[in-house]
Amino acid sequence: MIEGGDRADALLRRARETGRALGARLRGQSAGKEEHARALYDGFVKAGYHALLLPEACGGAGLGYASAGAIYEELSYHAIGLMPALLTTAHCAELLKIAGAGRSFGYLERIARGGIFGFCLTEREAGSDITGIRCTASATEKGYLINGEKSVVINSSIADFFIVIATTGFQKGRAGLGAFLVDTTLPGVERFGPECGFGFEESVIGSVRFSDVSIPGDSLLGEEGNAYFQVMESLDKGRPLVAACCVGAARRLMDIVTAHARQREQFGKPLIAFQGISFRLADLATRLKAARLLYADALSLIDSGREFTMEASMAKLFASETLRDFAEFALEALGHRAFEDGSEVRNIFNDAQLLISIDGSSNVQRMVIASQL
Ligand SMILES: Cc1cc2nc3c(=O)[nH]c(=O)nc-3n(C[C@H](O)[C@H](O)[C@H](O)COP(=O)(O)OP(=O)(O)OC[C@H]3O[C@@H](n4cnc5c(N)ncnc54)[C@H](O)[C@@H]3O)c2cc1C
Repeated sequence: MIEGGDRADALLRRARETGRALGARLRGQSAGKEEHARALYDGFVKAGYHALLLPEACGGAGLGYASAGAIYEELSYHAIGLMPALLTTAHCAELLKIAGAGRSFGYLERIARGGIFGFCLTEREAGSDITGIRCTASATEKGYLINGEKSVVINSSIADFFIVIATTGFQKGRAGLGAFLVDTTLPGVERFGPECGFGFEESVIGSVRFSDVSIPGDSLLGEEGNAYFQVMESLDKGRPLVAACCVGAARRLMDIVTAHARQREQFGKPLIAFQGISFRLADLATRLKAARLLYADALSLIDSGREFTMEASMAKLFASETLRDFAEFALEALGHRAFEDGSEVRNIFNDAQLLISIDGSSNVQRMVIASQL
């Protein structure tokens, strides 16, 4: 039994089947992209996978990180393309929990009821280095006015709320950043996209412009100047979960490639009989196992309240690069079949490239690890 009791066990047992069923719905889609993405998210909500880490008092499943990671891995086996929506809402929930502001509870309840959140951090000029953020939150008598533009926002056009990282202008760089809750229906919020033309075809990713968006004073999560540390902590906690998703998708590739290598014969033998293929699979199987141990270790450190920053980055770095390398090998091993329309391997290959960037690129993970040595 995994940590988290019977509820966690039941969710884990159903996870792969839920991912498979939702993944299969992609192929029969007729609705528009937003409508479809929302319906898929609602599928997760109905099955109970959208609020694994939320406290039971807010309507969540109340699971620990280790349990949630094992479930994310299973969901990702068939549905890696659907995971960004879940990961983003989980990330925003974490920010709300970290900020611990009085209003957070109500927003956590909204998430538990199926509300979708988007995280607005990245800008054209501010990617890996978020101290370059130009989006502003100017204090007014009633609260704040938000102005600026954000890029590559997962859930952009289906989110009910955004968490926007903006500079309050009192201090420069990281000390000037604040995190603000913004209702996406407010006047002045414009959403563009979906814009991502490569990978995560089932997710909506776009940009958002904020023009004099007026928000109440209690929309500030925590205190002005705290956002940098809130964001870093929430990203740290999210990284092993992204790693778990990578492991789930890599296990799917392992099953697809080994089945193919056993069945496909060339030169009078199945492909798996050639060491050029079987040794690559042996290396990848070893890396896959190591990736799983790394993410499980980082998540259990979080659960036990110990320091986990370095382990979280190691897990993300290793698992996402293992998935990317596996996906490249899978394209090679399947030959021309991998390039056919609707090829699962091709989709995972595209998603794998994007998973490298999410929650900090590989080099950012290396910077974090190096800083902890
Ligand atoms: C699919 C997808 C979804 C995303 N979703 C969201 C979202 O929902 N919300 C959001 O706010 N953002 C989102 N992002 C943005 C993501 O967080 C950024 O892409 C990431 O932070 C990197 O920023 P950048 O793309 O501007 O690259 P850059 O920061 O310009 O980096 C480009 C390259 O340079 C390298 N690099 C940068 N600095 C250094 C250094 N000091 N040393 C060595 N190498 C370095 C990086 O590793 C990278 O390989 C998403 C991105 C993708 C691809």
